[in-house]
Amino acid sequence: MNDIKTIAEKDRATVLHPFTQLKDFATGKIGDPTIVTGGKGIRIQDAQGRSYIDGFAGLYCVNIGYGRTEVAEAIARQAYKLAYYHTYAAHTTNELANLSDRLVRMAPGKPSKVFYGLSGSDANETQAKLVWYYNNLRGRPKKKKIISRERGYHGCSVVSGSMTGMSFYHDHMDLPFPGILHTGAPHHYWGAEPGETEEAFSRRRAAELEEMIVREGAETIGAFIAEPVLGTGGITPPPDGYWREIQTVLRRYDVLLIADEVICGFGRTGADFGSTLYGMEPDLVTVAKGLTSGYMPLSAAIVGERVYAVMEEAADRIGAFSHGYTYSGHPIAAAAANAVLDIVEKERLGDRARTVGAHFFKRLKERFAQLEIVGEVRGVGLLGAVEFVSDRQTKRRFDPQLKVGARISKAARDRGLIARAMPHGDILGFAPPLVVSEHEIDEIVELAYRATKQVM
Ligand code: PLP
Repeated sequence: MNDIKTIAEKDRATVLHPFTQLKDFATGKIGDPTIVTGGKGIRIQDAQGRSYIDGFAGLYCVNIGYGRTEVAEAIARQAYKLAYYHTYAAHTTNELANLSDRLVRMAPGKPSKVFYGLSGSDANETQAKLVWYYNNLRGRPKKKKIISRERGYHGCSVVSGSMTGMSFYHDHMDLPFPGILHTGAPHHYWGAEPGETEEAFSRRRAAELEEMIVREGAETIGAFIAEPVLGTGGITPPPDGYWREIQTVLRRYDVLLIADEVICGFGRTGADFGSTLYGMEPDLVTVAKGLTSGYMPLSAAIVGERVYAVMEEAADRIGAFSHGYTYSGHPIAAAAANAVLDIVEKERLGDRARTVGAHFFKRLKERFAQLEIVGEVRGVGLLGAVEFVSDRQTKRRFDPQLKVGARISKAARDRGLIARAMPHGDILGFAPPLVVSEHEIDEIVELAYRATKQVM
C-alpha cells in the first residue's frame, strides 16, 4: 500500500468527490481525504489508526455491520464459480432466482417481478420509465407526470434527481426535468399551523395533493413517489394518519404509488419495510442500500401485479421489454444480497431495530430534549435526528452561515463518532448499523451530546 501522503496526493489530483466543495478540497482548506482502511461491527478505521463509531452505517446502508465474513465468503464463492453473466433474453443464475423469489415473497404491496439495477437512483429512474410504459400501454399517453415531495430524496440521476425535492440538488444542473412536481413535506414540526394536530395536518397535506392533481388534471398524473419515512431531507417520520389520507387521494385519481424503500427497507424502521409499518400498499417498490448492506452495489425496482399484468399483456403487440443494464442482476451482487438477507433474518435485525431503537430514543430524549437549542428529537426504529434551532419558542432557525449542524457533526467526528449533518437545516442524523448494542447506543448519544455542548 502507498504511504498516507501519496494516497492523499493521488486522490486530490484525480478523484472528483461527490458532495464535496471542490475548491476547498483542491486547496487543502478542508484537509486531506479520510483514507478508510477497515471496518468491524459498528466501527471503521482510517489510515492514521483512528477508530470511529459509524453512527450512520456509511450512508444508511451497512445494516449488518462491517467485516461480516459470511458475506465476504459468499461473494468469493460466487466470484470463483461465475463472476459475471448477463440477464438479457432470459438468462439467470441460481443466486438471482433465489433472491428474486425471496424479494417477491417479502416485499410490500402485491409484488410480481423484480428488475435489478445498481443504485437507488437508477432504480427510481426505472420506476419512472415503468410508469410511462404502463400508461402508454394502457392507452393513456398523457398520464405521465410524477409527484414527489419537497425534501424527498430519490437520487441524483436525471429523473430521480428531479424527483428529489431540494433545490440545491437541481441548481446549475438543469433540473428538474419537465413533468416532475413537488407537494408539501410531511413535517408537522415545520409545516403545521399553530395548534393543528398531526391528523389535521395530514388531512391538509392530502387536500393539497388532491388540489395539485385536480389543477394539473388527473389524466396527466401517473404516479406519486415517496419515502415512507422522509430520509435525507431531515429524517422525518410521517405524522399520524398521513399515509391513510394520501392513499385515499391516490386511489381516487388512479395514481400509482411508488414506495422508495431505499433507506427504510430491510428492518431500518423496526419493521420489514416502512410500507408495512405505515399500512402503505405500493404498486412499485424501490430497494437498494440494506439489500446488500453496501457489500456490493445492487438495487431493485419491484413491480406490482397491477403494473406487470399490463406489461405482459401488451408483449405480443409491442415486443420485448427494452430496458436493462449490463450489470442487471449481477451474480456476485445477488450472492451478497442473499447472504446479507440470511443475516437480517437469522439475527432478526428488524426486531432489533425496534427494541434497540426504543432505547435509543429514550436516551436521545433524555440528553437532548431539554437543551435550549433543540427544536425536535424525532425518528423511528434506528433512524433518528436532532434538529437545532436558535429559538425554540419561535422556532427561529440559526443563520445558515453559522453552520451549526456541520460544526456539531465535525466535533462529534473529532471525538470518534460519525453522525451526519443533514443537508437541509441544522440536523444531526443517526442511522447506526442495526447490530448496534444498547451499550454502544449509550456511547453514541453521549458523544453526540458532548459534541453539541462543545459547539454551543
Ligand atoms: N432513494 C432514497 C430514499 C435514498 O436515500 C437514496 C440515497 O441516499 C437514493 C434513493 C439514491 O440511492 P443511490 O445513492 O444508491 O443512487
